[in-house]
Amino acid sequence: MIPLIEINEIPEGLLRLKDARDLHLLLPHPTLLYLKGDDKAPLFVSVLLHGNEDAGLFAVQDILNKYQERRLPRPLIIFFGNVYAAKEGQRRLDGQPDYNRVWPGCEHENSKEARLMRKVVRRVKSYEPFASIDIHNNTGKNPHYGCINSLRDDFLYLASLFGRTVVYFETPTGVQSMALAEHCPAITVECGKPHVAHGVEHASEFIETLLHLEDLEHHHIDHRAVDAYHTVATVTIDASHSFSFTDKNAEIRLLSELEDDNFTELPVGTLFAHVRAGSDARFEARDDKGNERFDDFFTIEGDEIRLKKMMMPAMITLDERVIRQDCFCYLMERIDVDEDEAREVERVCMMAET
Ligand SMILES: [Zn+2]
Repeated sequence: MIPLIEINEIPEGLLRLKDARDLHLLLPHPTLLYLKGDDKAPLFVSVLLHGNEDAGLFAVQDILNKYQERRLPRPLIIFFGNVYAAKEGQRRLDGQPDYNRVWPGCEHENSKEARLMRKVVRRVKSYEPFASIDIHNNTGKNPHYGCINSLRDDFLYLASLFGRTVVYFETPTGVQSMALAEHCPAITVECGKPHVAHGVEHASEFIETLLHLEDLEHHHIDHRAVDAYHTVATVTIDASHSFSFTDKNAEIRLLSELEDDNFTELPVGTLFAHVRAGSDARFEARDDKGNERFDDFFTIEGDEIRLKKMMMPAMITLDERVIRQDCFCYLMERIDVDEDEAREVERVCMMAET
């Protein structure tokens, strides 16, 4: 069992902490911190679900420093997630599942991590949260963007308060924002690479905005104010195939220039990789239902893997360990979020679930 520590005072030293690797000295296990505020529904914030993504930790530190002598405009519940991986400066430890794939609705509900997240959701839900934010960094060159799992107006409005780039997705499952979306408007925010001040500032400003916001309903969404994209495939490389950006002997040789193309619509024929002569290696491109659809998105011509249709990649990273642990990239298409269409997408998703 993984213990869940529950506290309602800021631990000594948290406000001065400089390095997420030292957080375990204050919080040796995953922790829920409840802080009182004005008489309103609380804001829920989770940080460090990925141990090497510290923007969330320093954003909440910034907020707590600001409100040291003042009452919070609404209560704040903070979940400090994978403090074990944070100690090692890693996304997750070898042998641990990803802490953002084990929330209610995930595929492996029996793991001790899944039991931990069920407990967190049960506790947070009992406080009837106003909204939920899960704060991340990523490794590739990406703009800051928000991810939502519903195209309802209150979710879109929440996303628009963070920035105009919004990604709507249905898989992977077991992510925090999908679990919390059952109880309140919820969002995952991606704040660029770790250890960059701008990412921390942006996340902190977003928390501050939500602390002061009266409500998320009753706001008219100007649908031209957001660029919304839908993930259509997750591109991974099977463990049986070697890959590299530099090693000419790898079965799949990826192109490092692609990192500059995150959130850029790429034309048909864009080169993604070279395949070693005689190898049958290829990517796996899985859609939301888990179906393998490489042939719908890519072609192999000679030793080259090229795009078969116009697509926008996201999260392309040069970090080979992250590619093994997570994925090489997501492929996305733009969605026109006018109100009727949003309703239609919601309806189709609900039908798919039943
Ligand atoms: Zn992350």
